[in-house]
Amino acid sequence: MSWGATRFHDALGAKNRKQYREATSTHHRKPRSIGGTNDPANLSELPRSRHAAWHTLFQNFDAERIAVEINTRYLDPEYVMVAERRNHDASRTDGVQPALRIA
Ligand SMILES: [Zn+2]
Repeated sequence: MSWGATRFHDALGAKNRKQYREATSTHHRKPRSIGGTNDPANLSELPRSRHAAWHTLFQNFDAERIAVEINTRYLDPEYVMVAERRNHDASRTDGVQPALRIA
């Protein structure tokens, strides 16, 4: 991730790359413990406090389990969050997959 492309550097008050690196940590969107890689598409730089909060809430759960946790513990009961896999069906060219509904 380039310094100029960072989302949080202003909010973190980081004045240079060193301060930014000290204020953030690298999150694996699909955890390495369940097969996530170091591919840049799987990595996010997060403020350390948000990163810690994420893992306090969701540990190293996969996307479907996170949707279950959100739906059963946090979300307005009139709504449902859906975990939907991207680019799974090679026959589709639009990148959209049928929704996997988690009740
Ligand atoms: Zn993480």
